[in-house]
Order: sequence, then structure tokens, then C-alpha cells
Amino acid sequence: MRTLLKVLSFLLLLPTSITSEAQDINYARALIDTLASPLMYGRGYVNKGDSLAVSYLALQFEHWELKSFGDNYYQPFSFNVNSFPYEVNVSLNGNELSPGDEFVVSADSHSDNGIYQVKTIKQKTFLKSQKLKRIEKQNHSGFYIYFDLKPDDDKTKLVMPLVNSFIDENPTDARGFILPVNSIWWHVWAKEMKQKPSTAVKIKSNAVPGNLKTISINVKAEYLDNHIARNVIAWIPGKTQPDSFLVVTAHYDHIGMMGPKALFPGANDNASGTAMLTDLARHYSLPENHHDYSIAFMAFAGEEAGLLGSKYYTENPLFSLEKIKFLLNLDMVGTGGDGLMVFNGTSDSLRYDILKNINDKNQYLKELRIRSGSANSDHYYFHEKGVPAFFLLTFSSEHRFYHDIYDTREALPLTKYNEVFRLITEFFNSI
Ligand SMILES: [Zn+2]
Repeated sequence: MRTLLKVLSFLLLLPTSITSEAQDINYARALIDTLASPLMYGRGYVNKGDSLAVSYLALQFEHWELKSFGDNYYQPFSFNVNSFPYEVNVSLNGNELSPGDEFVVSADSHSDNGIYQVKTIKQKTFLKSQKLKRIEKQNHSGFYIYFDLKPDDDKTKLVMPLVNSFIDENPTDARGFILPVNSIWWHVWAKEMKQKPSTAVKIKSNAVPGNLKTISINVKAEYLDNHIARNVIAWIPGKTQPDSFLVVTAHYDHIGMMGPKALFPGANDNASGTAMLTDLARHYSLPENHHDYSIAFMAFAGEEAGLLGSKYYTENPLFSLEKIKFLLNLDMVGTGGDGLMVFNGTSDSLRYDILKNINDKNQYLKELRIRSGSANSDHYYFHEKGVPAFFLLTFSSEHRFYHDIYDTREALPLTKYNEVFRLITEFFNSI
């Protein structure tokens, strides 16, 4: 695979040698095409997809002759994570559903293989506590429970906390659960607690037959103990103040695959941010663009599993966190038609004003939207430790796919890629 990656890298590096633009959208596009291709298995925990992305990024860093802090660019760490490398099939009343499109199994699911009768619990049951108590005393072992709810209905929103705790506590000892939803999305399970002894299946409401009697399920899950993941980290020494660092971060991992058929490519989340980070590394590696400050590029693992790579880094930094003058985290920057969100903007109004002035002057993005800090991406643990940091995320109606099989390279518009890139380099020149 390394040879194949080398060939891919060589091919995509060709156009960059003839461009004089600051940013190189062709290079970024080629990076995204590879990172979000089926070859990378959704950069998760099936077929070592995350590890393939690591090798590929390291080849890019090598090509641009970036420095490493130790012997290599890798910072390994480990965590436990559930994965679905084998078959994941579900049929209702004998009709097979399409994985990733019509259903997902809960990320904490264990293996299950069989045909089960379905018991239905209606929405109104959850509105009447006496009725719910009676049901909770029943025994449903060997059955799947179907919650007959209209997704996104006001009453459904009201009862969802009860439904979720019914699934969590499983008072009737059911074999599993079927939950109708309007849109299918997935995530990663990497908690200390192992797989759940029951399986919850989310199914697109229009794929649930009117008279649901049986579910046939064949899921084989594999819980990976101490899965080794790697952050990929490089830097370029500053010309005049090498002891002060600007830092660019982006997570390269995504949620992988649910069985051999459902691939979650994660083009926007976060092949886009990883590509921009790598393109910035290319830009600053060129002698004419060397910055006064040192610049570190940190591509993090395990973000989708709970910000694990960046958390590990802040607990085991490769240079003192106090040397970081500013950090920009890029997560989902492949759109931008409507604008750019700046998380943590409220905690550093001085830097936010600098960013905003650059944008206003150049009319790069229609709108910058200031947001407070939150634990929604890799800037979080840095900010908690006092590192000044923004998290940038583009938004628009052009591409709303998120954690689903449709967040593909073909669908990603890169509408404001050049503008966001220039905003960042001008910002780095102004702080
Ligand atoms: Zn993300």
C-alpha cells in the first residue's frame, strides 16, 4: 500500500510545481480525492483506514521537507473502539435494507445474527406513565422492540428522552430496538464501557413497512482493545522568532465503514481541513513564504472518537504549550457560500477583530459568525489549557451532508477554499 500511496502522491504533486498562487486548490482537491476515496476506507477502524491516511500525510510532509519534533512525524497513543469490518445486514419482513442509506446500527452494538419477532410500542405509550410502567414490567427477551414514532414530530421530540432511556436501561430485556428516523447519520463508539448487549437499529422512516412483523439481522462487531492511532505532526522553523509558534490543527480521522458496503468518506469532515492544513504546510515550506514565527502542523487522530488525539497531545505536548502564540483549528472548511463560523471568537475579541477586518477589507466571505468556545473540535483542550485558539468552520446550504455516506469528494464544492486560505495567511501575518 505504501508504494501505491507514493505513486498517488507523486501524481498529485505534479501540478504544484508550476503554480505561483499562494494557495493551490488543485493540490487540495487532489488531497481530498485521495483522503475521501474508498482506498482510505473512511479513515476509521476498518481495514486500518486511519493508518493509511497517516502514511499518506507523512509522505506529503516529507515531500515539503517539513521538520519533525522527534525521529519522525508520528505521535502514537491508543484507545478502545468498536468496529464493523464484517457483514452488517438488516431485513424487515424479509426485505433487505441498504446499509448507510436506509439504516445504521448503533455504534456501540455487539454482534447479532438471527430472525426475531417485533413488538411495537406506540408513541402515546410514552405520554402515559402508567401504561409505560406496565410495559416496563413485561419480558421481551428474544424480541426486537419497534418504537412507532413520527420522526421530528413535536410529540416525538417530547418523548425522545424517555425512549432513549428505555433503550439504555432495557427494562424488558429486549434483544434489540428499531427506531425510525428522518435522516441517517452515524458516529464512532470509543468509550471505556464495552459493547451493549442489545442492538439499536435506526431506520429511515419511509423504509419501515406498515405492518412490521420480523427483523432479520446479521451484524458482526469487533471491539478493538488498545487500538494504536497516530497524530501526524511537523513544523517549519521561524525566521526571526523560532521560539514562538503559530499552530494549524485538523483531524484527519473520520468514522470509517459500517460493514463492507457502507462507506463514510468524510470529504468535508475532515478531509477538507486536513487538505487545507497540508496546503498551508506546502505554502510556508517554500523559502519565499517562510514566516517569522515557527509554524507547527498537527493532523490529529481520534477526533470522532471524542477529541482523543488532541487531548493526548495537550497532555503530552512536543514543545511547551506556552510557546503557542495562536492556534487555528480547521474542521469542515469545504463550503463557505454563506460564511465562516469562528468558534472561541468571543473569548479573544482582539484577534477576532483582526480576522474580521481582513475579511471586511477583502470581502472574502459573506459573513463571519462569532461563536463562543465549545467542546466540538480539536481546539478545545488547547483552549482549556490557556492556548489562544479559534476553530474555523465554513457553512452554506450547498453541502449539508454530515456523518453520512453522502459526504463525498464529488459533492464537496470547495466554494470559498481560496478565500479562507488567504484569510488565514493574512491573519498569520497580522498577529
Ligand atoms: Zn470533524
